[in-house]
Amino acid sequence: MLRETNGTASGLWRALAVLSTGTHQSGNVTASIRGPWEVNSVHDLIVRNAVLPDGSLDMDIACRQGLIVEVGPNITGEARQTIDAGGLLVSPPFVDCHFHMDATLSLGLPRLNMSGTLLEGIALWGELKPLLTHEAVIERALRYCDLAASQGIGAIRSHVDVCDDRLLCVEALLDVKKKIVPYIDLQLVAFPQDGFYRSPTARQNLLRALDMGVDVVGGIPHFERTMADGAQSLKELCEIAAARSLLVDIHCDETDDPLSRHVEALAYETKRLGLMGRVAGSHLTSMHSMDNYYVSKLIPLMVEAQLHAIPNPLINITLQGRHDTYPKRRGLTRVPELRAAGINVAFGQDCTMDPWYPLGQADMLDVASMGIHAVPMTSREAMRWTFDAVTVNPARTLHLDGYGLAKGCKANFVLLQAKDPIEAIRLRANRLKVVRGGRVIAESDPRLARIHLDGRPATVNGADYAPRGSA
Ligand SMILES: [Zn+2]
Repeated sequence: MLRETNGTASGLWRALAVLSTGTHQSGNVTASIRGPWEVNSVHDLIVRNAVLPDGSLDMDIACRQGLIVEVGPNITGEARQTIDAGGLLVSPPFVDCHFHMDATLSLGLPRLNMSGTLLEGIALWGELKPLLTHEAVIERALRYCDLAASQGIGAIRSHVDVCDDRLLCVEALLDVKKKIVPYIDLQLVAFPQDGFYRSPTARQNLLRALDMGVDVVGGIPHFERTMADGAQSLKELCEIAAARSLLVDIHCDETDDPLSRHVEALAYETKRLGLMGRVAGSHLTSMHSMDNYYVSKLIPLMVEAQLHAIPNPLINITLQGRHDTYPKRRGLTRVPELRAAGINVAFGQDCTMDPWYPLGQADMLDVASMGIHAVPMTSREAMRWTFDAVTVNPARTLHLDGYGLAKGCKANFVLLQAKDPIEAIRLRANRLKVVRGGRVIAESDPRLARIHLDGRPATVNGADYAPRGSA
């Protein structure tokens, strides 16, 4: 832990220096290959003295050839690189299961969203689309991915707008997907932003995008002209996914209208076509405003279809309720009830600095924190679960292979400057090391303030304020 070793600030700094070193300090690296017969016995990386999200203490993680080969206390053997976790939390990477990488970092282009509504955001994006260039979309996306990697995001599901006959964003993000393979898994959703039927060429463009290699089928039933068109779009989109053996992720009922009930049709089509476990409903904000009796019928239908639910707390809390006076609805879907029913609930980020949301910094802990506040849910159990909502749960939604901190999983993980998952959320914890394939791909110095107050300590470390009982 970050405790002072000799009661002085310099002792603390030495302790922090151990944390921040990887390959550089000779005392921290034990590389010695003595002969070819011994090469295979040397690990590429060992992380020592970590806390895991399940609460296990003093754990080591050994990595070789891009995989985790052992997890447990006191792992023996040598390693080319050793990281002393210092009793801090090591987590599998954050997973953002709902994002719009074609629009990210475009804030202010060509103007700002003055009303703050979803509909002005869609209109504004429509103004920007004709002005986009292949190079500019790639440049913004790659710049975002630098930030995401530094924040420990290891996988992103991004919707990509197909309502542009040039399919410029599709081509650009397929290029980005290839470029970022070494650090982020990118799954793309063919998203008919202007409506699968409402936009005259959306249908053919969506099929073209899938032919080009886009992974997942998207839709937006609440934006079609009628409820009937919305339901019909879900029928056809799910049939397309079934015929091509693809996953489905629908922007579903992103509205305060309690009569927007497309998730019912989504569950029905999922069950009819045998797509159970392969379909996600994103947002589901109308459920916030629905009649309780109807919801008591709806949730079992969602369970039957094994739908994944993807609330996006940062965006739902800011875009919904905009037509209300007071009281203003929060708009977030019924997270505790969906969870209690056994539905896999995963939080997405949705936006960072785009026509719909002016803030954001690729921080899934910020997303988790907003979820806790907006639901609200502040029991220790619920807050601990929220960490899963930005890690293992979205990994399940994306059907990621080799995800987790177990033997045989990919050697992808994050060392956080926090003692446990709740602390990580409380602190929006600093990402000290981001490891991908057993290699450190990003690192940050420990966050520590020096204070100049008579009679008080020389330094303040937020992680030291963990409540009793934390790791
Ligand atoms: Zn979205």
